[in-house]
Amino acid sequence: MARAKLSSNELTSSVGRANAVGVPQSSKQTILRRCVFFDRDGIVNRAPGPGYVTELADFSLHDGVGEVLKTAHDRGWLAIIVSSQRCVAKELIDLAGLELIHRSMQMELMDRYGSKFDAIYVYTGQPGTEHWEKPRPGMIHQACKDHAIDPGNSLLIGDQDRDIEMANRAGIGRTIRLLTNTGNEENNVVANQTVQSIGEMVVAVRELL
Ligand SMILES: [Mg+2]
Repeated sequence: MARAKLSSNELTSSVGRANAVGVPQSSKQTILRRCVFFDRDGIVNRAPGPGYVTELADFSLHDGVGEVLKTAHDRGWLAIIVSSQRCVAKELIDLAGLELIHRSMQMELMDRYGSKFDAIYVYTGQPGTEHWEKPRPGMIHQACKDHAIDPGNSLLIGDQDRDIEMANRAGIGRTIRLLTNTGNEENNVVANQTVQSIGEMVVAVRELL
């Protein structure tokens, strides 16, 4: 896959925009962006086991995920989290608590790597959001619409069957599965590539992007 060394501003443009006498709207063409989609728990941060991260103090970034994030941005890709947090609907944490965790995560990433996620999509389990529930592709569809992303030229990194299946349903071009060996995950949906550690994930992404 060719490497792009474009800044974010260069990636989205329209053909013929320099034509001052006016170009018909139909001749404009958006250049779609590529994106690395990240599952959150188990990929971005240490998996909380069978439960949820409901306290800021329990959210711990994986060493290496910042390298993947920075690699994505350096090569002109977006980096977006797609996460299931039913703990909101279960009232184990409220939206403000969840936002606090994500704000803190973004600040830590900026401090340590000079990069942060471009967007975070969360399925909360609240009524009316069912189409965002993994493995349904709603979160990815929304992200692609919001950020002009080409799913076929994008990548998803996840650790569960539902992550890989969601990517497949959304037409994501490539998937990487991190084997977490927690013993409570099913492993029936085959990803394009399997890695055994965050370190291997970093190497795989550097080779792919
Ligand atoms: Mg996970």
